[in-house]
Amino acid sequence: MTSSHHSHYDAFVRNVRHSSRIELSQAALKKNINFLKRKLGSHPRYSAVVKANAYGHGIPQMVRMLENCGITHFSAASAYEAEEVLEYCGESSDIMIMGILYDQDIEWAIRNDIEFYVFNYDRLQLVLEKAKKLNKKAKVHLEVETGTNRTGMTEPFFRKSITFLRQHQDYFQFQGVCTHLGGAESRSNQFRVDQQIHRFRQYLAELKKRKFMPTYRHIACSAAVLAMPETHYDLVRIGVATYGFWPSPDIYYQHLQEAGKDKDAPMNRIISWKTDVMDIKNVPQGEFIGYGTAYQALNDMRVAVIPVGYSNGYPRGQSNSGHVLIRGRKAPITGLINMNLFMADISHIPGVEIGDEVVLLGKQKNNTINVSSFTNYTQLINNEMLSRLPKAIPRRIVK
Ligand SMILES: *Cc1c(COP(=O)(O)O)cnc(C)c1O
Repeated sequence: MTSSHHSHYDAFVRNVRHSSRIELSQAALKKNINFLKRKLGSHPRYSAVVKANAYGHGIPQMVRMLENCGITHFSAASAYEAEEVLEYCGESSDIMIMGILYDQDIEWAIRNDIEFYVFNYDRLQLVLEKAKKLNKKAKVHLEVETGTNRTGMTEPFFRKSITFLRQHQDYFQFQGVCTHLGGAESRSNQFRVDQQIHRFRQYLAELKKRKFMPTYRHIACSAAVLAMPETHYDLVRIGVATYGFWPSPDIYYQHLQEAGKDKDAPMNRIISWKTDVMDIKNVPQGEFIGYGTAYQALNDMRVAVIPVGYSNGYPRGQSNSGHVLIRGRKAPITGLINMNLFMADISHIPGVEIGDEVVLLGKQKNNTINVSSFTNYTQLINNEMLSRLPKAIPRRIVK
């Protein structure tokens, strides 16, 4: 479907190759979206959260792939990200900023029909001035405080804000009222999350009393979409599940209980990360591999040199633990992850040659490396590992 106006579709294209590459599966995304849409039914609108470079997957590619699946609403954390989404999305798609929008950029947002959160009453005056100057409505979402104590206005300011929006309807589109749940993925937060939902309903009651409703009431993230249907309202902001990850074991087990173990996997990882064997070394028994004394060869060994390091987003915590896939077999990491290199033991894998494909993340023959296999060894959580993948790694859409 999408268009050729993406003139610099991949800003990092060079004449030579990068040291690794990311592949994104359109088919896997389609399955995730179908599964999530079945959960939602026909009413709430699906907003794909594409903050942090689409959880590391790449905004340009993900926006296009999501539009191929019929998604037309995108949530970004900042104006900076929203501008990138704007560059790649179709004419009729909508973009929402959930976080930082500097005063200097409010005009840009209004001019481009970008929706944005307002969580300070004082800000509305400034937005009004900009909207008047442009003679265009600002599309605002009032974010309310329900118990996370991040951003979100408290009740007195909320009441003032709705009065203000009402008075200036020529310059405001009351696009939404929203909040964010502080840990919907964990059962241990259930009490707190229930309280948040209760408080959110009180804000909605106030709106109802005043007969002044926004287009969208929204509160649900991935975990809430999967486990708490009462939170769906009119729009849902789905991040991690869009990319095929269960928000937590709690949510996964709940799904298994409901669906039964025999069901097909409804969620599928989109991302694979690959590179190639750069060199092969025979290491005599007793020698050290790489920096320092982190790894000593107990036998004569054969190791593959891999042109990726912590500067490429490969976690240093994988040193001497974790593995890569070569010729469909697991090759354990030997020694420290360096800035641009690491080594893996291929003594047990016959026939490895320079240039062979190395899978860092994803599937090769009958083996798979999941993001969770990284997060077992390191302190990283899924989102952190993914969102740190450098933008410079080229990303390619595959079937
Ligand atoms: C990140 C984020 C989401 C999406 O959360 P997931 O758990 O990844 O679905 C939703 N809303 C807000 C405000 C967020 O910051």
